[in-house]
Parts: sequence; C-alpha cells; structure tokens
Amino acid sequence: MTLTKKPESRPAKNPWGLAAGGDVPWEYAPAPEATDHIRIEPEYGLFIGNEFRPSKPRKTFTVINPATEEPLAKVAHASKADVNRAVAAALGAHRSTWSKLPGRERAKYLYRIARILQERSREFAVVESMNSGKPIKESRDVDVPLAAAHFFYYAGWADKLEYAFPNRQPRSLGVAAQVIPWNFPLLMLAWKIAPALAAGNTVVLKPASTTPLTAYLFADVVRQADLPPGVVNIITGPGEIGMELVTHPDVSKVAFTGSTAVGKMIARAVAGSGKKVTLELGGKAANVVFDDAPLDQAIEGIINGIYFNQGEVCCAGSRLFVQESVYEPLIDKLKARLGTLRVGDPLDKNTDIGAINSAGQLAKVQELVDSGIAEGAEIFQPDCELPTRGFFFRPTLFTGVSQSHRIAQEEIFGPVLSVLTFRTPEEAIEKANNTPYGLSAGVWTEKGSRIFKMVSAMKAGVVWANTFNRFDPTSPFGGYKESGYGREGGTHGLGAYLDLSGNGGNGR
Ligand code: NDP
Repeated sequence: MTLTKKPESRPAKNPWGLAAGGDVPWEYAPAPEATDHIRIEPEYGLFIGNEFRPSKPRKTFTVINPATEEPLAKVAHASKADVNRAVAAALGAHRSTWSKLPGRERAKYLYRIARILQERSREFAVVESMNSGKPIKESRDVDVPLAAAHFFYYAGWADKLEYAFPNRQPRSLGVAAQVIPWNFPLLMLAWKIAPALAAGNTVVLKPASTTPLTAYLFADVVRQADLPPGVVNIITGPGEIGMELVTHPDVSKVAFTGSTAVGKMIARAVAGSGKKVTLELGGKAANVVFDDAPLDQAIEGIINGIYFNQGEVCCAGSRLFVQESVYEPLIDKLKARLGTLRVGDPLDKNTDIGAINSAGQLAKVQELVDSGIAEGAEIFQPDCELPTRGFFFRPTLFTGVSQSHRIAQEEIFGPVLSVLTFRTPEEAIEKANNTPYGLSAGVWTEKGSRIFKMVSAMKAGVVWANTFNRFDPTSPFGGYKESGYGREGGTHGLGAYLDLSGNGGNGR
C-alpha cells in the first residue's frame, strides 16, 4: 500500500558517488528465509492449564501477515468467563506447586525454556517476522536471542533471591496479569514471564491482538519444558479482555507495556486495589549529536535509533537534535544512508525495513506525516519502490521541524525522524526534556565529561552514549513522566515481582 507521495527534489551526489537518498546502484538477489520448517496451526485456543481450549462461548478472530495481508491463523476470542478460568488456573498453580518449589527447581524450568528457545530459534524468528512484519535479520539476531537471554538471566536469580534483596525476606506475589504490545511480541513476553516465574509467581499473559502467534508457539515450549499446569496461561482477545484481566480481584501484580493512553486507564482502574503495578509506556526520545561526534558512527546510531523495527519502538530516537555547526554534513550523510535502506519482504535477509504492523498503525503514521507537511516541515524520503500489498512506509526524514510541531511532540511509532538543531549543551538539554515522555535518550560526543553532564541532565530512564537501542537483560529499563513507572530487567525487574515488605505476602 503506497500512501506517501514521492519527494519532489533530491540533493546533489554525496562523496561516495551515490545520489543522496537515491536507490543503491546495485540490486541484491532475493534471499528469502525458508518457511518449510514452521507449522502454524489453522486455529489456536486459549492456553489455560497447559491445554489449548476454545473460548466460552466459542468465538475466534483472524490474525494476518501485515506484509501480505493474508490470513495466518484464527485465534480464540476470550470472554470474561475465560479470564476467570485463566486466573483460577494460575492461582491454583501458585498455591499448589510453583510458590512451594525451591528456587533451584524453578531455575531448572527457566533454563530449560531458554535452551528450547535457542533450539527452536529459527522457527520463532520466522513466525515472529510473518506475524509482526519485522525484518527476519532483526527477529533472528535481536528478538529471539534476547528473549532466550532473559530466561537464562532470570534463571540465574531464581535460587538467589535472598542475595538479590538481602534482609528483605523476598516472597512471591501470586498471579501476575501481563498485557503486552505488538512491536516485540516474543521479547516482551520474555521480559514479563521470565522475572515473574523466577520470583515464584504464576502468570496470565495477554498478547496484542495482531501478534499472538509467537506467544502460542511459546505455549508449546511451556509444555515441552514440562512446566506444571497453570504456571503460564495465555489468553487472546481485545483490549477489554486486557482490562478484565488486570482488574481481576485474584491478580496481585499488573505489568503492562503499550500506549500511554491505555497505561493511564489501567493505572486508574487498579488504583487503591493493592496490586503491584509496572507500566512501560510511550516515548519520544531525543538523540543529541554534538559537533565533535564521529559523524559516520553517529549516522549508524541515528539509523538504528529510528528505523530499527520500522520505528515501532517505544524508546526509538525519534527526535534528532544536531549541533548547528555539523548540521549540513550530517543531513547530507543521513539522506545518503536513507537511500541505502531496503524496504520490503520481512522474510528477505537483506531487508532493513519490513511492514508496519497493521493498517491502523500505518494510517496513524501517515496522519502524523501529513500533519508534519501541513505544519511546514520539509519531508525527505528515498525514492524506493514499495511492495504493492501489505502495510509499508518509506523511511522518512523531516527537517525544518519546530518544537511545537506534532511530529516533534507525539509518538509516531513508525519510520519517521524529526530533525531539530541546537547551539549549546544547555539548549540541547532544554529541548530534549521538553516532552511529556522520559523513556530514553542518546548522546553523541567524544568528550566523556559532556556525556556525564548530558546523562545527568536528560530526564530519561535510559541514556545511551555513542550508541543507541542496545538492550541487555541485566540492565533495568523504564521511564519517567508519561513513559510510565517501574523497571524491567536486572534486579530492579525482579523486585517488581516480589513482596519485599517482610510481611509475608499479601495473601491473595
Ligand atoms: P495499546 O496500548 O492499545 O495496546 C497494547 C496492549 O494493550 C495490547 O495487548 C492491547 O490489546 C491492550 N489493550 C488495549 N486496550 C486496553 C485496555 N483498555 N485495557 C487493557 N489492555 C488494553 O496500543 P495500540 O496497539 O493501540 O497502539 C497505539 C499506539 O500506542 C501506537 O501508535 C504507539 O504510539 C503506542 N504503543 C506504544 C508501545 C510501547 O511499547 N510503548 C507499544 C504499542 C503501542 P489489543 O491488541 O487487543 O488491542
């Protein structure tokens, strides 16, 4: 689907002899990943108590491949009664088995899951790319290995909770309700389930409606790893089902990743209930480039910061602040690099930018891009061909952006970069912090002292220096302000799934 009109003019050739923003002067042969080793069932039931069961009443919805718009499978549409069944299974498993197992036994299950994820990594990568639209090189090299790494990491903590939180008598909370988004379906599942299980909780997870397939593939891993029934339950259904789940009276812990609007609704709905809550919400990260930064390295960081996963990343470096003295060379290099990005089939190993996850998200990206043009910013897009079917969008760059433009204020969640300028570090800090969000930021400079100054002054949960979008299970991740609260990853992420009050749990 092509929605964006092509740019009218292109700058002159760059020093590499490549027209800025122009198509690369050679073509790669197609390099499609094989799909004959994967098996997608025609229909998936809800995964409750280690069994796939139809919803009650029996109802399904169809999941499609965003790159082809073809149906992939039908999945169960859970009802309120199904939420009750799933929570009851999780509560039963918590009381009867999981909370009673010694940490070293829980660890064995987590290690087993991690190893199975590694063994079945090709299968997971292909299904993830087919269902989400992300390029296979990202699902293969980032999503799946990191998901396994989260299970390995938290397996290591399962029998060491007393060392992680000395003198705090850590105890599991009970049932964790986990609602996750569509941009990193398997990775978000791992971020949620690994620490929950390591801490001795059981879970009910609701994936996003557009991307449930790797979660149901993971259900198969749960059975393969012989987890006791009810420890991991997975249900699919629309947003209201997510709300039923998080507000269920037998749920002790709520973990949500998604939009700020829904995060606020959840916070209001569970306020005063005594449930422990972590919210990982939207972002509008500032990526700040000083004039002493190594420009070529910065270009790669900027590209990775905003075009990784089609820009559908909560911590994407979507606002680029460039020091005025290097603005022109940097923009020239950036436009040239944009022209080398390959947009297309997510299953092709050469693809850099795959499909946007849904028609709705594509329309949102287009609407915000249109607003940028209408408000007077200057658009640049490389002149690349887009597939005729599927939800694709060209990598987009806006210059001449002012702070008040919607494209500088709102989370676009697409491959769209807004470029602004600054003169002094103080101005960069002021502008970078001028957002309701505070999830991540980046700084590019050769001066260590400047890195420390910027890192301390930028109000963001994660600040990368001379790199961007690097993730590690040992490192806590989370936001300030409207980007949410609580941390995932590291011992911070483990603490979010434990009662550390010393009162012996909340007895749910
Ligand atoms: P949502 O926040 O609506 O979806 C995230 C998850 O929450 C999904 O599982 C969704 O289910 C579920 N959900 C939706 N409504 C409710 C509700 N009322 N109560 C409980 N759970 C609910 O994100 P969208 O998919 O609508 O995306 C909209 C925008 O949000 C994006 O354009 C982007 O800007 C931002 N976003 C941010 C993310 C992040 O990582 N920070 C991730 C995803 C989106 P279902 O899929 O069934 O609707």
